[in-house]
Amino acid sequence: MIVGIDLGTTNSAVAYWDAGEARLVPNSLGQLVTPSAVSIDDDGELLVGLPARERQPTHPDRTATAFKRYMGTSRKLKLGRKEYAPEDLSALVLASLKRDAEVHLGGPVTGAVITVPAYFNDKQRRATRRAGELAGLKVERLINEPTAAALAFGIHQRAVEEPFLVFDLGGGTFDVSLVEMFEGIIEVRASAGDNRLGGEDFNRVLIDFAREKLAGVLPETHEGEALYEVMRDAAERARRALSEADEAPYRFVWDGREHRIAVTADAFAERAEPLIERLREPVLRSLRDGSTKVGELSEIVLVGGATRMPIVRKAVTRMFGRFPDTTVHPDHAVALGAAVQAGLKRRDADLDEVRLTDVCPFTLGVGISERDARGGRRDGIFSPIIERNTVIPASRVQRYFTMIDNQETIRLEVYQGEARHVVDNVWLGQLDIPVPRKPAGEVGVDCRFTYDTSGLLEVDVSVPETEISQQLLIYDRDDAALAANLDARREALAALKVHPRDQAANAALLARANRCYEGYLGETRDYVGSLLSHFESVLANQDPREIESARTEIARRLDEIEGEQFL
Ligand code: AMP
Repeated sequence: MIVGIDLGTTNSAVAYWDAGEARLVPNSLGQLVTPSAVSIDDDGELLVGLPARERQPTHPDRTATAFKRYMGTSRKLKLGRKEYAPEDLSALVLASLKRDAEVHLGGPVTGAVITVPAYFNDKQRRATRRAGELAGLKVERLINEPTAAALAFGIHQRAVEEPFLVFDLGGGTFDVSLVEMFEGIIEVRASAGDNRLGGEDFNRVLIDFAREKLAGVLPETHEGEALYEVMRDAAERARRALSEADEAPYRFVWDGREHRIAVTADAFAERAEPLIERLREPVLRSLRDGSTKVGELSEIVLVGGATRMPIVRKAVTRMFGRFPDTTVHPDHAVALGAAVQAGLKRRDADLDEVRLTDVCPFTLGVGISERDARGGRRDGIFSPIIERNTVIPASRVQRYFTMIDNQETIRLEVYQGEARHVVDNVWLGQLDIPVPRKPAGEVGVDCRFTYDTSGLLEVDVSVPETEISQQLLIYDRDDAALAANLDARREALAALKVHPRDQAANAALLARANRCYEGYLGETRDYVGSLLSHFESVLANQDPREIESARTEIARRLDEIEGEQFL
């Protein structure tokens, strides 16, 4: 059997073709999407999916998420003491989906059609292919996510060339693609986007709103990340609730106190207006690049969890003067489309696809120091020069200035990645260039990055005042080495102890209850502690019926505390 797999940054899903229809496969928890998360527990067993996602807040150093962002890079992610390549972690997710499909279908799954973002370059595609092979799958084909989405909405059944506009708003990125089909060949004709716009930005709107409402109540000098995480979680819950209701509570516990405000859909809409405004430009750009008028669009299809927000749907309707097609669930469309392609393949009728231009898959830049408003110095800040998704070959220049009086050299450290702090990015090399001794800020250096399709980064640094310049060539590490020992790696991954599938629901509940225990204080914490003790003793008894009823009951009580669990 060949399945279709959406290997997503946040969530993944697997689907198959059956009796003329694409269908999703439920995982061992009965859910149709599986978080792309891997964690290692205290017994050294691997958890994949929801139990792993739930462990992220309590065991961040033993849990990996969002590794898709690093596919095709040499970055390694640590799980406990061991390091894994992003493609290994993706392979673990794929292997879990493969198992789910085999259990559901009652037979072996041998091959898969896997989806990738349209902007993935060759290197990222090769890494995705390897991840599939490491999971024991024959990768029949990789298809672009927007193409898969268009297939799920039936683009292949339309009579003539009718472009579909795929509007994909996820957790952190916004992608608009024009997909067209012509004589059996499907093409992403244009794509545009904003890789800094997604559900997270809408969370930030709510966090700011809550901060304003709670001004004077919340500590001014908030304890950075910890408070932000708690407020973010509250925002995520409130925002999802606002997709269903006109008003939702925004509540969280901080420093032993519960804070609660009510947010109305109208207040949220008003605050989110600047973000909604930003959805317009990429849409216009893709239409322009694809020489297509709104009236020529056959369908507007929504993909990505954040398109569930009513304000987004309203904006789309306003922008296009008609309603988008919402017949397929935005979280399911990509996997279903991959299954359509798998079904076509089975009948030898699969569609060919044309690739988009190559783009740089990651941001390239240098580490700099900054002065903040109070004159304090912050080191190790990432300054992007060539941004992710820039069409390559590309050449960009930035000017940097000295920070201290009589500085003698400027050091430029080159990094690849998306994080604001360079420690979280991948170090590629460094250059020191002498500069004339002058007061701080009076000497500048120009740093030019040139990046081509073969993955060669040329760094050229020059001091206009002295005309001194230096160059550095950084070669992309060859991935031949990664491809060479595939069999050994597959065996190593297969030998890892995986937490038993039939225990996944218990593991997920334990992880969730532990997260709640850490996230609350006082009576609520004691209460969650007693639920945990109870569940642990039921587990020790090993009576499946008792375990199941305790699990249902405890999940209900946790829902009462923090609202329903979400993926
Ligand atoms: P994706 O990357 O496609 O999985 O989308 C993830 C984003 O969708 C996150 O920012 C979620 O907050 C958002 N999302 C998922 N479900 C909902 C919902 N019911 N209402 C609003 N946003 C949602």
